[in-house]
Amino acid sequence: MTAPRLEIDLNKIQHNARTLVRRLAGKGITVTGVTKSFLGCPPIARAMLKAGVTSLGDARIENLETMRRANVLAEMRLIRSPMLSQVDRVVAAADVSFNTELDIIGALSAAARRADRRHEIVLMVELGDLREGIMPGDLEAIVAKTLRLPNIVLKGIGTNLGCRSGTSPDARNMSDLSALSRSIEANFGMRLNIVTGGNSSNLDWALNAEHVGQINDLRLGEAILLGNDPLNGTSIAGLYTDAIVFVAEVIEAKLKPSMPWGDIALSPFTRIPATNDSAEILQVILAVGHQDIDPAGLISAPGIKIVAASSDHLVLDAGRTQIGVGTEVAFKLTYGALLRAMTSPFVSKVMTSIGKRMVGHVDVNELNEAIA
Ligand SMILES: *Cc1c(COP(=O)(O)O)cnc(C)c1O
Repeated sequence: MTAPRLEIDLNKIQHNARTLVRRLAGKGITVTGVTKSFLGCPPIARAMLKAGVTSLGDARIENLETMRRANVLAEMRLIRSPMLSQVDRVVAAADVSFNTELDIIGALSAAARRADRRHEIVLMVELGDLREGIMPGDLEAIVAKTLRLPNIVLKGIGTNLGCRSGTSPDARNMSDLSALSRSIEANFGMRLNIVTGGNSSNLDWALNAEHVGQINDLRLGEAILLGNDPLNGTSIAGLYTDAIVFVAEVIEAKLKPSMPWGDIALSPFTRIPATNDSAEILQVILAVGHQDIDPAGLISAPGIKIVAASSDHLVLDAGRTQIGVGTEVAFKLTYGALLRAMTSPFVSKVMTSIGKRMVGHVDVNELNEAIA
């Protein structure tokens, strides 16, 4: 089989999504399946939908367009603020977009009018992580102006934490979001259908909170795909952490000294070897590098250590593991490594589901062609 590749087990992804959907349903919270890390690849999006996610969310309009083109049937949410230059595409491909700027909402209104459509808006609120969001004190004024715009429907509010600064979702900031939702409903005599509390880093709060208040939606990517809680880097009980694994192939395996020799200067990806003796190690080179993966985000099997990487080579200390040329070595991944691997045209994406061997083979080039 071709290498390097991501092996994507659709049944495991479906299991993870279903498990989270069920747990959160007990709290009155629905799940938006976040598709950005896999570029909206339709079979993976469908696995999420089969598991009961109620909408799909992506940061990039291209990925929503990919799924539309493939006839993925779901409510599509653009979860990053639209670019002014893309409002027509946003109105065409997204049912809902997340917004923080009145000028952009105004442009969406004009685009929706041109297309003779309604476009739905979620207003994002800043609650401490300092990425996107309207300052809470400015929210009501923006609600008032949004409500006056033709062809725009205000569907709800939301927030995003844990992404830029690591601000944790907790009882305080989540009850702030609930309070803002209640006051908008009271002051404007309307209902907010969506109160979207956050991403995978909200799970710990949501599943353990006694009251989740008005929050009725979470947007989950990493937890579904990797079974991880990004807040503390631990795996989530009952979920697969190997639904997606990365596989690369050995192109050199030799006993070599663990330390370099000669006059040592800088190299583009300098990484000092961990050992400081002249002992020999079984040094193994995989045909993959920074261009394809984030080496710091690969999780190797016990006994195998990643010691260095350059643009096209990944160097391992294989320890006592006998590994020869042509052998394939598998890794689990962090979210950052997954993003880079998904985006590399050199890494093929091989999807499997139980019972059937291969149900699909998608590479980024094909996806990009589908978009063009
Ligand atoms: C990426 C993203 C998510 C999903 O984050 P995960 O940690 O993968 O669950 C949710 N909301 C927004 C706004 C995002 O940009």
